[in-house]
Amino acid sequence: MSKKITFDYWKHLYAKRTGNMLSSEIRDLLSLSARPDIISFAGGLPEVKALNYQKLEKYVKRALKIGGDISLQYGSSDGYYPLKTRLTEVMKLENIDVNEEDMIITTGGQQALDLLAKIFINPGDYLIVESPSYTGALNSFKSYEPQIISIPVDSKGIIVSDLKLKLNELANKDKQVKFIYLVPNFSNPSGYTLSFNRRKEILNLAKKYNTLIIEDNPYGMLRYEGRPVPTIKELDIKSSNQNVIYISTLSKIFAPGFRIGWIVAPHPILEKLTLGVQSADLCTSSFSQRIAYEYFSDPVWRENIIEFIKIYSARRDVMIKALEKYFPREATWSKPEGGFFIWLRLPEFLNTKEILADTIRNKVAYVPGTGFYADGRGLNEARLAFCTENTERIEKGIKILSEIIKDKIKLYRSFK
Ligand code: PMP
Repeated sequence: MSKKITFDYWKHLYAKRTGNMLSSEIRDLLSLSARPDIISFAGGLPEVKALNYQKLEKYVKRALKIGGDISLQYGSSDGYYPLKTRLTEVMKLENIDVNEEDMIITTGGQQALDLLAKIFINPGDYLIVESPSYTGALNSFKSYEPQIISIPVDSKGIIVSDLKLKLNELANKDKQVKFIYLVPNFSNPSGYTLSFNRRKEILNLAKKYNTLIIEDNPYGMLRYEGRPVPTIKELDIKSSNQNVIYISTLSKIFAPGFRIGWIVAPHPILEKLTLGVQSADLCTSSFSQRIAYEYFSDPVWRENIIEFIKIYSARRDVMIKALEKYFPREATWSKPEGGFFIWLRLPEFLNTKEILADTIRNKVAYVPGTGFYADGRGLNEARLAFCTENTERIEKGIKILSEIIKDKIKLYRSFK
């Protein structure tokens, strides 16, 4: 649907915070992903086609038959208890040992982020994010008008020495950090995984500075190589701490259309979050939760994870091979052990936003880097999602991208 731009007569009425609410470049680019002629490395769209639709129909029917009217009613604000039981089983596979009382269900991981921002952030408050960071989280946080401190990442995740310095500096000025937001596994957008040692160090820092870590883990179960690293939540539980709020989602291991996420947090925080749900949407869809309950009650869901892993790891391999084959030496990229994304760095004289216009004309899309930084950096960087397209289109798309980038480099050099 094309957007009609009209004069905005109501500008004088908007809240100040709307000035911080930037449109997510990814959402804007998602409309391009829907066009079959465009090879899209833009949105991280899960391969829902791999689900068994006949079985799905059965789950939907069972949800209606067993739940009856209740499946169509408002549900409890903290979520459907039997689904919570299933989610505790999902988390056990990642060694997170919690029970139903320790969690609430939300309308996707995105709502979890927004609710957390809502209950913690006053205008001007300090919070820390990795840089680059998930753009959806940045946008939720920004609308509550905090001061966002960005700490750079390397291939082992957020750089702890920089984090330490910043925490110390803020503490010396008597500034309380509200939370540190991290995507430790195959991060969106960098693809990097936070090392075990850094996880332990960050947990100790959170304890020392009396702050919280929000651990966002949508991709943890989608590991294609290497050994799993314990979640920060697992370390937190084992050392009897209460410094970690853990959030996850069914969007990547089931389907985003059901809009189901969850939060594990200390009980007083859950109480505040439940109040937040009541003013946001009353409850997560009862019907979606019951379908998800049926799906996760069928042991086949674990086989489907194996199938997802097969599909995505093949796509990752092809994208990395194609980058190695076609891309100029001046470019570098991350080599994720799981998840959906590769982070691309081009020479500093290139601007990925400008290049995007050319690549779209040539029917390839990606997300420019700036949307993943709270401070306007990332001009020469980009996120490439390998999860969406099949292997042939990935190879073709990377080749097209490489030709455009090589031309830009040649042009730049010819003017030097
Ligand atoms: N966190 C991260 C790191 C994500 O990548 C996403 C989705 N792209 C979300 C949260 C939100 O996902 P959803 O709302 O679909 O659960």
